[in-house]
Amino acid sequence: MKLHEYQSRELLERFGVPVPGGDVADNGQEAKSIAERFGGAVVVKAQVLMGGRGKAGGVKLVSSAEEAGVFTQELIGKTLKSIQNPQGMVVERVLVAERIDIESEFYVAVLLDRSEQKDVFMISARGGMDIEEVAAESPEAIAKLHVDPKWGLCDYEIRAALVQANIDSRARGQMLQIIHKLYRAYRESDATMIEINPCALTTDGKVVAADAKIALDENALFRHSEYAAVADDSAEDPLEAEAARRGIAYVKLDGDVGVIGNGAGLVMLTLDEVARAGRKAANFLDVGGGAQADRVRDCVELVLMDKSVKALLINIFGGITRGDEVAKGVVEAIHQLGVKLPIVVRVEGTNAEQAKAILAEANLIPAGSVQEAASKVAELIA
Ligand code: GDP
Ligand code: MN
Repeated sequence: MKLHEYQSRELLERFGVPVPGGDVADNGQEAKSIAERFGGAVVVKAQVLMGGRGKAGGVKLVSSAEEAGVFTQELIGKTLKSIQNPQGMVVERVLVAERIDIESEFYVAVLLDRSEQKDVFMISARGGMDIEEVAAESPEAIAKLHVDPKWGLCDYEIRAALVQANIDSRARGQMLQIIHKLYRAYRESDATMIEINPCALTTDGKVVAADAKIALDENALFRHSEYAAVADDSAEDPLEAEAARRGIAYVKLDGDVGVIGNGAGLVMLTLDEVARAGRKAANFLDVGGGAQADRVRDCVELVLMDKSVKALLINIFGGITRGDEVAKGVVEAIHQLGVKLPIVVRVEGTNAEQAKAILAEANLIPAGSVQEAASKVAELIA
């Protein structure tokens, strides 16, 4: 689960990592009054969960509160697109942060290195908006510091990594402290990644986190009531956010076949069969075990909110889930929502016969196997 920059900053502040002053706004007026609090010279930053935001025009240094207000008004509602996110994301809020005079920009991140089975810090003196190119063209400019799970982080190791990374000697002492704080923040928040880019050395010799990206492990959210509000606001896709509110396991994909199944394994198999039939799934949706009609109805409704869906494939294996309940849910959804898209259904297992009878009355397309269902869907869309 990714946090917005303004949320990441709050988290870092709690662990004592220095960040420039700032606040979040969702309209020009509000942005203007925040900017006034910081003397007018601020940076306005779109709060979108995507990389390449600066290059996409989502970050602007301004010199007056009026300018901050005007730029915010322009930015809100706009779709920003970047190489990392070609579909783009709509800006709903901006961060208005105190503008700092940057002398140099460093990169520091901590995440899990699965192959080494250790947490790793990545540190570079070549931070800023081109870090992807640095990583691709001169990977030696990024120092790696693995954390020994027995001993934790030792000062001498951090110092050696800072030297290897070519960090300005004036910044090393502060960077050492920041790295310790980042590691505490990472461990205690159950983060999967913290990235500070840039970690800025200002002209008056201070090191501050001028941008921050944090991802938390959503499986650990139950231990962090302090992040409950954050969770609601952090889905990258509006439909995924809606699914989270309804308690449905849903992942948005980029094809055009809506897929509903019960059980993650069965859904994955269905995605494979859709791919084999030459189409791509628009989503991954697991109705879960023992689903009742109204839950199935909810799931159908959710998938159909996705405008890229051209046909629906429902694949149910009745175990604890009763086939007739699923069939009732599907039929209810079709009537309530006035669905016009073709729907192919395959039901096997508990009460499959009753299910088939219910579905037959509702003009759905039956399929005897997953393969047959996938190829029928592919034909219907082609
Ligand atoms: P990103 O493109 O999403 O990574 O956005 P950042 O928040 O990292 O901002 C992009 C770039 O804008 C940074 O690398 C800095 O060069 C510049 N920038 C951001 N905030 C400030 C600031 O307060 N002062 C100055 N001088 N530059 C800034
Ligand atoms: Mn950045």
